Amino acid sequence: MKRAIYPGSFDPVTLGHLNIIKRAAAIFDEVIVCVCVNSAKHGGLFPAEERVDLIRRVTEGIPNVTVDHTEELVADYARRHDSQVLVKGLRAVSDYEAEIQMAMINAKLYDRLDTVFLYTDTKYAYLSSSVVKEMASYGADLSDFVPRQIIADVERKVRGQRQ
Ligand code: ADP
Repeated sequence: MKRAIYPGSFDPVTLGHLNIIKRAAAIFDEVIVCVCVNSAKHGGLFPAEERVDLIRRVTEGIPNVTVDHTEELVADYARRHDSQVLVKGLRAVSDYEAEIQMAMINAKLYDRLDTVFLYTDTKYAYLSSSVVKEMASYGADLSDFVPRQIIADVERKVRGQRQ
């Protein structure tokens, strides 16, 4: 059984993330989408539990996907969950340098841990959670950015932050 972990901030989950989740779920027997929160890094739009809830709602129809969150190192999380594969999405060459460095560090921390990179669907190459937050703050239509089930949640949260 091949279990992969897809780590990230997912603040909030975007259509780009969802595309990677679906493709990873077609490759691996089981995919754990793990919201990684760095305790030293405060802030963010949604607290971890709410990010998990949003991802659960948009992956409901994919039986081999589970969602979790952690504050620990991804390598420790992978070891604890008996997984030897991390999935990462790549948008542009500019993502590559930092991602390759992370992959090497993770392999050093847990030597059976490999990172598998999936290239973004070009439709989503411009998309990041920061773009979503920026667009939402201007009241833009979010339907090209996040799954429709969570549009209202993002709009509500951004409105609440402004008040
Ligand atoms: P961001 O805040 O930039 O959206 P995350 O930390 O939440 O990033 O991303 C988690 C993982 O998903 C990373 O491997 C990142 O490269 C990947 N990812 C983010 N957005 C996309 C996208 N539009 N297409 C493909 N992969 C993506």
